Amino acid sequence: MKPKTALQKQVAKLSATLRPISSAQTEWAYKHCIEHIAYRTKNGTTTCPDCGHVWHTQGTLVDTLCGCSCPNCGAELKVQETRKRTQNQTNYFSVITTCKGFQVIRVAQVRYESRKGEPMRFYCSEVVQRWISPDAKVTDMALLRGFTFCYCDVWALDSDMEIRPHNSLYDDVVALSDVYPRMSILPQLKRNGFKGNFHGVSPLRLFNALLSDPRIETLMKAGEIEEMKYFLSNPATADNLWASYLIAKRHHYKINNIGMWCDYLMMLKNLGKDIRNPKNICPQDFIEAHDRVNRMIDAKRDKAIAERMRQAEIAQREREQQQLLQEKEREEEFKALKSKFFGLVISDNEICVKVLESIDEYYEEGKKQDICVFGAGYYLKADTLILSARIDGQIVETVEVDLRTLKVVQCHGKYNKDTEYHDRIINLVNSNAKLIRERMTA
Ligand SMILES: [Zn+2]
Repeated sequence: MKPKTALQKQVAKLSATLRPISSAQTEWAYKHCIEHIAYRTKNGTTTCPDCGHVWHTQGTLVDTLCGCSCPNCGAELKVQETRKRTQNQTNYFSVITTCKGFQVIRVAQVRYESRKGEPMRFYCSEVVQRWISPDAKVTDMALLRGFTFCYCDVWALDSDMEIRPHNSLYDDVVALSDVYPRMSILPQLKRNGFKGNFHGVSPLRLFNALLSDPRIETLMKAGEIEEMKYFLSNPATADNLWASYLIAKRHHYKINNIGMWCDYLMMLKNLGKDIRNPKNICPQDFIEAHDRVNRMIDAKRDKAIAERMRQAEIAQREREQQQLLQEKEREEEFKALKSKFFGLVISDNEICVKVLESIDEYYEEGKKQDICVFGAGYYLKADTLILSARIDGQIVETVEVDLRTLKVVQCHGKYNKDTEYHDRIINLVNSNAKLIRERMTA
Protein backbone atom coordinates (compact mmCIF):
# COMPACT_ATOMS: atom_id res chain seq x y z
CA MET A 1 0.00 0.00 0.00
CA LYS A 2 1.29 3.44 -0.85
CA PRO A 3 1.69 5.62 2.25
CA LYS A 4 -1.11 8.21 2.28
CA THR A 5 -1.05 10.22 5.49
CA ALA A 6 1.87 12.36 6.58
CA LEU A 7 2.51 9.90 9.41
CA GLN A 8 2.58 6.92 7.04
CA LYS A 9 4.93 8.76 4.69
CA GLN A 10 7.24 9.57 7.57
CA VAL A 11 7.21 5.96 8.84
CA ALA A 12 7.84 4.50 5.37
CA LYS A 13 10.76 6.85 4.90
CA LEU A 14 12.29 6.06 8.29
CA SER A 15 11.73 2.33 7.86
CA ALA A 16 13.90 2.37 4.74
CA THR A 17 16.77 3.72 6.87
CA LEU A 18 16.66 0.85 9.40
CA ARG A 19 19.52 -1.60 9.13
CA PRO A 20 18.55 -5.23 8.56
CA ILE A 21 18.17 -7.50 11.59
CA SER A 22 21.80 -7.97 12.64
CA SER A 23 23.76 -11.20 12.66
CA ALA A 24 24.08 -10.94 16.46
CA GLN A 25 20.27 -10.75 16.73
CA THR A 26 19.81 -13.63 14.30
CA GLU A 27 22.33 -15.72 16.23
CA TRP A 28 20.52 -15.00 19.48
CA ALA A 29 17.23 -16.12 17.91
CA TYR A 30 18.93 -19.26 16.59
CA LYS A 31 20.04 -20.12 20.11
CA HIS A 32 16.96 -19.05 22.07
CA CYS A 33 13.88 -19.17 19.87
CA ILE A 34 14.31 -22.60 18.32
CA GLU A 35 14.55 -25.96 20.05
CA HIS A 36 17.55 -27.97 18.90
CA ILE A 37 16.62 -31.62 19.30
CA ALA A 38 19.13 -34.39 18.60
CA TYR A 39 17.83 -37.53 16.89
CA ARG A 40 18.61 -40.55 19.05
CA THR A 41 17.84 -44.14 18.16
CA LYS A 42 17.14 -46.95 20.64
CA ASN A 43 20.73 -48.25 20.52
CA GLY A 44 22.15 -44.82 21.43
CA THR A 45 23.21 -43.54 18.01
CA THR A 46 22.76 -39.78 18.24
CA THR A 47 22.70 -37.32 15.36
CA CYS A 48 23.25 -33.58 15.78
CA PRO A 49 20.38 -31.70 14.09
CA ASP A 50 22.61 -28.67 13.51
CA CYS A 51 25.73 -30.07 11.84
CA GLY A 52 24.69 -33.67 11.05
CA HIS A 53 27.48 -35.21 13.15
CA VAL A 54 26.76 -38.76 14.38
CA TRP A 55 28.09 -40.21 17.63
CA HIS A 56 27.19 -42.79 20.20
CA THR A 57 25.80 -41.93 23.63
CA GLN A 58 25.92 -44.23 26.60
CA GLY A 59 23.22 -44.74 29.14
CA THR A 60 19.47 -44.51 29.05
CA LEU A 61 17.39 -41.73 27.59
CA VAL A 62 16.66 -40.46 31.10
CA ASP A 63 20.37 -39.64 31.49
CA THR A 64 20.41 -37.64 28.28
CA LEU A 65 17.04 -35.93 28.85
CA CYS A 66 18.66 -32.92 30.45
CA GLY A 67 20.48 -32.41 27.17
CA CYS A 68 24.00 -32.65 25.82
CA SER A 69 26.23 -30.72 23.51
CA CYS A 70 27.41 -31.84 20.09
CA PRO A 71 31.05 -33.04 20.20
CA ASN A 72 31.52 -31.63 16.69
CA CYS A 73 29.87 -28.19 16.59
CA GLY A 74 29.25 -27.64 20.30
CA ALA A 75 25.52 -26.89 19.88
CA GLU A 76 23.49 -27.24 23.08
CA LEU A 77 20.96 -29.96 22.32
CA LYS A 78 17.89 -31.61 23.76
CA VAL A 79 17.68 -35.30 23.00
CA GLN A 80 14.68 -37.22 21.77
CA GLU A 81 14.42 -40.91 21.03
CA THR A 82 12.80 -40.87 17.63
CA ARG A 83 12.62 -42.52 14.23
CA LYS A 84 11.85 -39.15 12.63
CA ARG A 85 14.29 -38.02 9.95
CA THR A 86 13.26 -34.37 9.65
CA GLN A 87 12.32 -31.49 11.92
CA ASN A 88 10.86 -28.08 11.16
CA GLN A 89 10.15 -25.23 13.48
CA THR A 90 8.92 -21.69 13.03
CA ASN A 91 8.97 -18.98 15.65
CA TYR A 92 9.00 -15.22 16.03
CA PHE A 93 11.17 -12.81 17.89
CA SER A 94 11.01 -9.05 18.41
CA VAL A 95 13.74 -6.47 18.28
CA ILE A 96 12.68 -3.40 20.21
CA THR A 97 14.33 -0.22 19.06
CA THR A 98 13.77 3.48 18.51
CA CYS A 99 13.98 5.61 15.39
CA LYS A 100 13.66 9.40 15.26
CA GLY A 101 11.21 9.68 18.14
CA PHE A 102 9.27 6.49 17.35
CA GLN A 103 9.26 3.34 19.45
CA VAL A 104 9.64 0.51 16.95
CA ILE A 105 8.88 -3.18 17.43
CA ARG A 106 10.44 -5.22 14.64
CA VAL A 107 9.14 -8.78 14.43
CA ALA A 108 11.15 -11.42 12.59
CA GLN A 109 10.19 -14.95 11.73
CA VAL A 110 12.81 -17.64 12.26
CA ARG A 111 12.56 -20.98 10.54
CA TYR A 112 14.62 -24.07 11.15
CA GLU A 113 14.66 -27.05 8.80
CA SER A 114 16.67 -30.15 9.69
CA ARG A 115 17.23 -33.38 7.79
CA LYS A 116 18.91 -36.12 9.77
CA GLY A 117 22.61 -36.32 8.85
CA GLU A 118 22.72 -32.98 7.02
CA PRO A 119 23.60 -29.52 8.30
CA MET A 120 20.37 -27.74 9.18
CA ARG A 121 19.04 -24.75 7.28
CA PHE A 122 18.07 -21.65 9.24
CA TYR A 123 16.20 -18.64 7.90
CA CYS A 124 15.37 -15.33 9.48
CA SER A 125 13.03 -12.81 7.84
CA GLU A 126 11.63 -9.61 9.23
CA VAL A 127 7.86 -9.73 8.65
CA VAL A 128 6.26 -6.91 10.68
CA GLN A 129 7.22 -3.50 12.05
CA ARG A 130 4.99 -1.62 14.48
CA TRP A 131 5.83 2.07 14.72
CA ILE A 132 4.48 3.76 17.86
CA SER A 133 4.51 7.54 17.96
CA PRO A 134 4.88 9.33 21.32
CA ASP A 135 1.12 10.04 21.26
CA ALA A 136 0.45 6.28 20.99
CA LYS A 137 -0.52 6.13 17.33
CA VAL A 138 0.50 2.81 15.77
CA THR A 139 1.54 2.56 12.14
CA ASP A 140 2.07 -0.91 10.72
CA MET A 141 4.53 -2.03 8.10
CA ALA A 142 4.54 -5.65 7.05
CA LEU A 143 5.17 -8.18 4.35
CA LEU A 144 2.18 -9.41 2.42
CA ARG A 145 0.37 -12.36 3.88
CA GLY A 146 0.46 -15.43 1.66
CA PHE A 147 -2.95 -16.59 0.58
CA THR A 148 -2.25 -20.28 0.28
CA PHE A 149 -0.96 -22.34 3.11
CA CYS A 150 2.64 -23.15 2.52
CA TYR A 151 5.12 -24.49 4.95
CA CYS A 152 7.08 -21.28 5.22
CA ASP A 153 4.14 -20.12 7.39
CA VAL A 154 1.78 -17.50 6.03
CA TRP A 155 4.04 -14.68 4.88
CA ALA A 156 4.88 -13.94 1.27
CA LEU A 157 8.59 -13.73 2.05
CA ASP A 158 9.47 -12.20 -1.31
CA SER A 159 6.99 -9.31 -0.88
CA ASP A 160 8.05 -5.82 0.22
CA MET A 161 7.91 -4.36 3.72
CA GLU A 162 5.16 -1.79 3.15
CA ILE A 163 2.59 0.27 5.03
CA ARG A 164 -0.39 -2.08 5.57
CA PRO A 165 -3.79 -1.65 7.17
CA HIS A 166 -3.90 -3.10 10.66
CA ASN A 167 -4.34 -6.84 10.87
CA SER A 168 -4.93 -8.59 14.22
CA LEU A 169 -2.25 -11.09 13.17
CA TYR A 170 0.32 -8.33 13.77
CA ASP A 171 -0.83 -8.20 17.42
CA ASP A 172 -0.55 -11.98 17.62
CA VAL A 173 3.02 -12.16 16.32
CA VAL A 174 4.13 -9.42 18.72
CA ALA A 175 2.43 -11.19 21.63
CA LEU A 176 3.92 -14.55 20.61
CA SER A 177 7.47 -13.44 20.03
CA ASP A 178 10.45 -13.64 22.34
CA VAL A 179 12.04 -10.25 22.92
CA TYR A 180 15.70 -9.72 22.03
CA PRO A 181 17.22 -8.60 25.34
CA ARG A 182 19.07 -5.52 24.11
CA MET A 183 16.41 -2.86 23.69
CA SER A 184 16.34 0.79 22.89
CA ILE A 185 13.46 2.60 24.58
CA LEU A 186 11.90 6.05 24.07
CA PRO A 187 12.69 8.42 26.96
CA GLN A 188 8.91 9.04 27.34
CA LEU A 189 8.40 5.35 28.12
CA LYS A 190 11.25 5.29 30.62
CA ARG A 191 9.87 8.43 32.24
CA ASN A 192 6.41 6.79 32.42
CA GLY A 193 7.72 3.84 34.38
CA PHE A 194 9.04 1.27 31.90
CA LYS A 195 12.12 -0.40 33.37
CA GLY A 196 12.73 -3.13 30.80
CA ASN A 197 10.26 -5.74 32.05
CA PHE A 198 7.03 -6.42 30.15
CA HIS A 199 5.53 -8.46 33.03
CA GLY A 200 3.93 -10.86 30.57
CA VAL A 201 2.11 -8.10 28.70
CA SER A 202 2.55 -7.77 24.94
CA PRO A 203 5.17 -5.02 24.32
CA LEU A 204 2.89 -3.12 21.96
CA ARG A 205 0.05 -3.14 24.44
CA LEU A 206 2.23 -2.04 27.32
CA PHE A 207 3.96 0.75 25.35
CA ASN A 208 0.65 2.03 24.07
CA ALA A 209 -0.92 2.04 27.51
CA LEU A 210 2.10 3.77 29.04
CA LEU A 211 1.96 6.49 26.41
CA SER A 212 -1.81 7.02 26.49
CA ASP A 213 -3.23 5.99 29.87
CA PRO A 214 -1.99 7.94 32.93
CA ARG A 215 -3.48 5.26 35.21
CA ILE A 216 -1.19 2.59 33.78
CA GLU A 217 1.71 5.01 34.12
CA THR A 218 0.82 5.61 37.78
CA LEU A 219 0.63 1.89 38.54
CA MET A 220 3.90 1.12 36.72
CA LYS A 221 5.73 3.85 38.61
CA ALA A 222 4.32 2.61 41.92
CA GLY A 223 5.41 -0.93 41.04
CA GLU A 224 1.80 -2.16 41.36
CA ILE A 225 2.24 -4.74 38.62
CA GLU A 226 -0.75 -6.99 39.39
CA GLU A 227 -3.02 -3.93 39.55
CA MET A 228 -1.52 -2.59 36.31
CA LYS A 229 -2.15 -5.88 34.51
CA TYR A 230 -5.68 -6.13 35.90
CA PHE A 231 -6.72 -2.60 34.90
CA LEU A 232 -5.04 -3.06 31.51
CA SER A 233 -7.21 -6.08 30.74
CA ASN A 234 -10.35 -4.63 32.39
CA PRO A 235 -10.55 -1.08 31.03
CA ALA A 236 -14.26 -0.69 31.87
CA THR A 237 -13.55 -1.56 35.51
CA ALA A 238 -10.69 0.92 35.48
CA ASP A 239 -13.10 3.62 34.27
CA ASN A 240 -15.61 2.73 36.98
CA LEU A 241 -13.33 2.22 39.94
CA TRP A 242 -10.16 4.23 39.39
CA ALA A 243 -11.26 7.07 41.70
CA SER A 244 -12.11 4.54 44.43
CA TYR A 245 -8.75 2.82 43.91
CA LEU A 246 -6.91 6.10 44.44
CA ILE A 247 -8.92 6.78 47.63
CA ALA A 248 -8.06 3.32 48.99
CA LYS A 249 -4.37 3.90 48.19
CA ARG A 250 -4.45 7.31 49.86
CA HIS A 251 -5.67 5.54 52.99
CA HIS A 252 -2.75 3.10 52.64
CA TYR A 253 -5.21 0.27 52.19
CA LYS A 254 -3.57 -2.99 51.18
CA ILE A 255 -5.38 -4.75 48.36
CA ASN A 256 -4.39 -8.41 48.26
CA ASN A 257 -6.44 -9.44 45.26
CA ILE A 258 -7.32 -6.61 42.90
CA GLY A 259 -9.89 -8.66 40.94
CA MET A 260 -11.77 -9.61 44.11
CA TRP A 261 -11.55 -6.08 45.48
CA CYS A 262 -13.03 -4.67 42.25
CA ASP A 263 -15.82 -7.27 42.38
CA TYR A 264 -16.48 -6.20 45.96
CA LEU A 265 -16.75 -2.54 44.92
CA MET A 266 -19.10 -3.37 42.03
CA MET A 267 -21.30 -5.24 44.52
CA LEU A 268 -21.28 -2.23 46.88
CA LYS A 269 -22.27 -0.04 43.94
CA ASN A 270 -25.04 -2.45 43.06
CA LEU A 271 -26.33 -2.17 46.64
CA GLY A 272 -26.37 1.62 46.33
CA LYS A 273 -23.43 2.12 48.73
CA ASP A 274 -21.00 5.02 48.37
CA ILE A 275 -17.86 3.58 46.74
CA ARG A 276 -15.82 6.70 47.52
CA ASN A 277 -16.29 6.31 51.23
CA PRO A 278 -13.14 4.73 52.73
CA LYS A 279 -15.28 3.11 55.45
CA ASN A 280 -16.99 1.07 52.72
CA ILE A 281 -14.08 0.37 50.40
CA CYS A 282 -11.32 -0.31 52.93
CA PRO A 283 -12.79 -3.01 55.20
CA GLN A 284 -10.46 -4.38 57.87
CA ASP A 285 -11.53 -7.96 57.25
CA PHE A 286 -11.85 -7.95 53.48
CA ILE A 287 -12.96 -11.57 53.05
CA GLU A 288 -15.70 -11.19 55.65
CA ALA A 289 -16.90 -7.92 54.03
CA HIS A 290 -16.78 -9.46 50.55
CA ASP A 291 -18.87 -12.44 51.66
CA ARG A 292 -21.30 -10.24 53.52
CA VAL A 293 -22.07 -8.01 50.53
CA ASN A 294 -22.26 -11.09 48.35
CA ARG A 295 -24.96 -12.47 50.66
CA MET A 296 -26.69 -9.07 50.60
CA ILE A 297 -26.74 -9.18 46.79
CA ASP A 298 -28.24 -12.68 46.92
CA ALA A 299 -30.85 -11.52 49.42
CA LYS A 300 -31.63 -8.50 47.28
CA ARG A 301 -32.17 -10.74 44.30
CA ASP A 302 -34.34 -13.19 46.28
CA LYS A 303 -36.42 -10.26 47.50
CA ALA A 304 -36.80 -8.90 43.99
CA ILE A 305 -37.93 -12.31 42.72
CA ALA A 306 -40.45 -12.66 45.58
CA GLU A 307 -41.76 -9.17 44.87
CA ARG A 308 -42.13 -9.93 41.16
CA MET A 309 -44.05 -13.09 42.01
CA ARG A 310 -46.31 -11.18 44.41
CA GLN A 311 -47.02 -8.56 41.75
CA ALA A 312 -47.76 -11.27 39.21
CA GLU A 313 -50.22 -12.93 41.61
CA ILE A 314 -52.00 -9.62 42.24
CA ALA A 315 -52.22 -8.95 38.53
CA GLN A 316 -53.54 -12.47 37.92
CA ARG A 317 -56.22 -12.07 40.61
CA GLU A 318 -57.24 -8.72 39.14
CA ARG A 319 -57.51 -10.25 35.69
CA GLU A 320 -59.68 -13.07 37.03
CA GLN A 321 -61.96 -10.65 38.85
CA GLN A 322 -62.22 -8.53 35.75
CA GLN A 323 -63.16 -11.62 33.76
CA LEU A 324 -65.82 -12.67 36.27
CA LEU A 325 -67.24 -9.17 36.20
CA GLN A 326 -67.37 -9.17 32.42
CA GLU A 327 -69.09 -12.56 32.40
CA LYS A 328 -71.63 -11.34 34.92
CA GLU A 329 -72.29 -8.21 32.88
CA ARG A 330 -72.73 -10.30 29.74
CA GLU A 331 -75.15 -12.61 31.52
CA GLU A 332 -77.18 -9.57 32.72
CA GLU A 333 -77.24 -8.13 29.24
CA PHE A 334 -78.27 -11.49 27.84
CA LYS A 335 -81.13 -11.75 30.33
CA ALA A 336 -82.33 -8.23 29.55
CA LEU A 337 -82.48 -9.16 25.88
CA LYS A 338 -83.79 -12.70 25.96
CA SER A 339 -85.49 -13.50 29.28
CA LYS A 340 -88.88 -12.65 27.83
CA PHE A 341 -88.54 -15.74 25.62
CA PHE A 342 -87.52 -18.10 28.43
CA GLY A 343 -89.82 -21.08 28.75
CA LEU A 344 -90.96 -20.83 25.12
CA VAL A 345 -91.31 -24.28 23.55
CA ILE A 346 -92.61 -25.10 20.06
CA SER A 347 -93.41 -28.78 19.63
CA ASP A 348 -95.11 -31.19 17.26
CA ASN A 349 -95.07 -33.97 19.83
CA GLU A 350 -91.86 -35.48 18.44
CA ILE A 351 -89.60 -32.50 17.80
CA CYS A 352 -89.32 -30.04 20.64
CA VAL A 353 -87.86 -26.59 19.83
CA LYS A 354 -86.82 -24.64 22.93
CA VAL A 355 -85.18 -21.27 23.52
CA LEU A 356 -81.59 -21.29 24.84
CA GLU A 357 -81.85 -19.72 28.28
CA SER A 358 -78.31 -18.93 29.38
CA ILE A 359 -74.89 -18.19 27.91
CA ASP A 360 -73.82 -21.59 29.25
CA GLU A 361 -76.52 -23.21 27.13
CA TYR A 362 -75.16 -21.41 24.05
CA TYR A 363 -71.71 -22.71 24.93
CA GLU A 364 -72.94 -26.31 25.37
CA GLU A 365 -74.97 -26.15 22.14
CA GLY A 366 -71.99 -24.81 20.19
CA LYS A 367 -69.64 -27.40 21.62
CA LYS A 368 -71.93 -30.41 21.05
CA GLN A 369 -72.85 -29.36 17.50
CA ASP A 370 -69.52 -27.85 16.41
CA ILE A 371 -71.16 -24.61 15.41
CA CYS A 372 -70.28 -21.00 16.27
CA VAL A 373 -73.43 -20.05 18.14
CA PHE A 374 -71.39 -19.29 21.27
CA GLY A 375 -68.14 -18.27 19.59
CA ALA A 376 -69.78 -15.66 17.37
CA GLY A 377 -71.69 -14.23 20.34
CA TYR A 378 -75.26 -14.87 19.13
CA TYR A 379 -76.51 -14.53 22.71
CA LEU A 380 -76.02 -10.74 22.61
CA LYS A 381 -77.52 -10.15 19.16
CA ALA A 382 -80.65 -8.08 19.74
CA ASP A 383 -82.60 -9.04 16.63
CA THR A 384 -81.99 -12.75 16.84
CA LEU A 385 -83.44 -15.62 18.82
CA ILE A 386 -81.64 -18.95 19.02
CA LEU A 387 -83.62 -22.10 19.62
CA SER A 388 -82.57 -25.70 19.88
CA ALA A 389 -84.60 -28.39 18.10
CA ARG A 390 -84.35 -31.64 20.05
CA ILE A 391 -85.79 -35.14 19.99
CA ASP A 392 -85.79 -36.93 23.34
CA GLY A 393 -83.48 -34.25 24.69
CA GLN A 394 -80.88 -34.83 21.93
CA ILE A 395 -80.03 -31.80 19.78
CA VAL A 396 -81.03 -32.23 16.14
CA GLU A 397 -80.59 -28.77 14.68
CA THR A 398 -80.03 -25.25 15.97
CA VAL A 399 -82.39 -22.55 14.72
CA GLU A 400 -81.96 -18.80 14.32
CA VAL A 401 -85.07 -16.67 14.00
CA ASP A 402 -84.87 -13.06 12.82
CA LEU A 403 -86.96 -11.17 15.38
CA ARG A 404 -87.77 -8.42 12.83
CA THR A 405 -89.39 -10.84 10.34
CA LEU A 406 -90.04 -13.78 12.72
CA LYS A 407 -88.68 -16.08 10.03
CA VAL A 408 -86.06 -18.78 10.38
CA VAL A 409 -82.85 -17.46 8.79
CA GLN A 410 -80.52 -20.31 9.72
CA CYS A 411 -81.12 -23.89 10.72
CA HIS A 412 -78.30 -26.41 10.92
CA GLY A 413 -77.32 -29.70 12.47
CA LYS A 414 -73.94 -30.84 13.65
CA TYR A 415 -71.01 -29.33 11.67
CA ASN A 416 -73.54 -26.94 10.04
CA LYS A 417 -75.04 -29.83 8.03
CA ASP A 418 -78.76 -30.34 7.46
CA THR A 419 -80.53 -33.38 8.90
CA GLU A 420 -83.58 -35.32 7.68
CA TYR A 421 -85.69 -33.12 10.02
CA HIS A 422 -84.42 -29.86 8.49
CA ASP A 423 -87.51 -28.77 6.54
CA ARG A 424 -89.86 -30.03 9.23
CA ILE A 425 -88.14 -27.92 11.90
CA ILE A 426 -88.19 -24.77 9.73
CA ASN A 427 -91.87 -25.23 9.00
CA LEU A 428 -92.65 -25.94 12.62
CA VAL A 429 -90.95 -22.74 13.82
CA ASN A 430 -92.21 -20.52 11.00
CA SER A 431 -95.77 -21.69 11.50
CA ASN A 432 -95.58 -20.96 15.21
CA ALA A 433 -94.13 -17.45 14.83
CA LYS A 434 -97.07 -16.06 16.74
CA LEU A 435 -95.79 -17.72 19.94
CA ILE A 436 -92.65 -15.67 19.59
CA ARG A 437 -94.50 -12.48 18.77
CA GLU A 438 -96.67 -12.91 21.90
CA ARG A 439 -93.55 -12.90 24.05
CA MET A 440 -92.22 -9.78 22.32
CA THR A 441 -95.28 -7.72 22.98
CA ALA A 442 -95.92 -9.07 26.46
ZN1 LIG B 1 26.77 -30.53 15.77
